[in-house]
Amino acid sequence: MHYQPLPFDRDLIDRIIEDHPTPFVLYHEDGIRARARELTDAFAWNEGFQQYFAVKATPNPHIVAMMAEEGGGADCSSVAELITCERLGITGQDVMFTSNNTTMEEFEIANKLGAIINLDTPHHIDQIAQLSPLPEMVSFRFNPGPERQGNVIIGDPKEAKFGSTREQLMDGYRRCAELGISRFGLHAMVVSNELNIEALLQTAEMLFELAAEIHRETGISVECINLGGGIGVPYQPGQEPVDLPAFGDGVRKLYESILVPAGIAPVRILMENGRAMTGPFGYLITKVINQKSSYKDYVGVDACMSNLMRPGMYGAYHHITVMGKEDQPADRTVDIVGSLCENNDKFAIDRKMPATEVGDIAVIHDAGAHGHSMGFQYNGRLRSAEIVFNDAGEFRAIRRAETFDDYFCTVDFDSVKVDRKQSATVG
Ligand SMILES: *Cc1c(COP(=O)(O)O)cnc(C)c1O
Repeated sequence: MHYQPLPFDRDLIDRIIEDHPTPFVLYHEDGIRARARELTDAFAWNEGFQQYFAVKATPNPHIVAMMAEEGGGADCSSVAELITCERLGITGQDVMFTSNNTTMEEFEIANKLGAIINLDTPHHIDQIAQLSPLPEMVSFRFNPGPERQGNVIIGDPKEAKFGSTREQLMDGYRRCAELGISRFGLHAMVVSNELNIEALLQTAEMLFELAAEIHRETGISVECINLGGGIGVPYQPGQEPVDLPAFGDGVRKLYESILVPAGIAPVRILMENGRAMTGPFGYLITKVINQKSSYKDYVGVDACMSNLMRPGMYGAYHHITVMGKEDQPADRTVDIVGSLCENNDKFAIDRKMPATEVGDIAVIHDAGAHGHSMGFQYNGRLRSAEIVFNDAGEFRAIRRAETFDDYFCTVDFDSVKVDRKQSATVG
């Protein structure tokens, strides 16, 4: 079982809690860095391979910086994400701007950074034409529509708002070349959280064949092919992580059988994974604060859906262990819940757990991506701290917890008066 043992012990948690009360997200720095190297090593055969970390998965600047230190770039889709890169000194072709429903302002900011502009649709070419200077490199996002299945997170491709058809792409490359753009890429993001290598390889095969077709039809050779993100995380016990060396090797075979004969090699392979890079290396640390029984048995923790909305949003499974009770029989069936006034504020439904007590520390696994980043303040719940630790047992806060001052800082109480006379006259 890949969940055991935790890479930290109760002593570390107790030391953190002295300054940072639960709930908080705890990231394992050595795990994150090792994963980044493992992916790069799997593609060592490809000169110029680069993984662009999908910033939206874990937009903490310290995490984005770790990825850059490990040789990666950053994949951004909003101004805030671009500003994060700019302030970290991540610029130029180390930034990929993969947006959709984009504004001129966003293109201008991305272009000022020198980012690769990854266009969702040729409809944006009129905006691109107004940029000065023109982007160094433009890429297009392909949506295969009924040719591919997709999955629950990203949706059925033909229902998905992302990307363009084959015909639109051909036209898009031609029009960009007419504008004077000379360097091109190709991109797709069809699946997310995919554990099956075959499904991941299908995207590579599809894009390699499309690159060959673009070359035949337009004479344009793309210089990078971005396979998207989407490498999955084994959230459920018993699931196996993606074998990255086998995946890299599978892509190499497709490269040799499709791109080399098409005469467009060398091509740089790019990826923009988020989840697989940080997901398994983040833990939502929360305390049991209440237990109750009504029609079911409930364990109430001090985190809620606003700290990790994947279970409430997609019914996603997150493994949960109770520190110090890993070896006790899981003979209770409970719902593990937060405090929001929403019935989908549950981290687990009908989960087999050992008997818990108030004060126990529950660890919600695989919370390192699309966790804190999807956080919100509904019901006045504040966003938690983010803490990073390493194998030497050191830890540091990479984001403090929000305070009530943060929560109220966008309203001005001094300008509000409760005028009870008003309601008296209306009544
Ligand atoms: C979200 C996203 C990613 C990252 O997806 P993961 O499943 O986290 O790897 C990559 N590219 C684009 C365009 C995205 O929107």
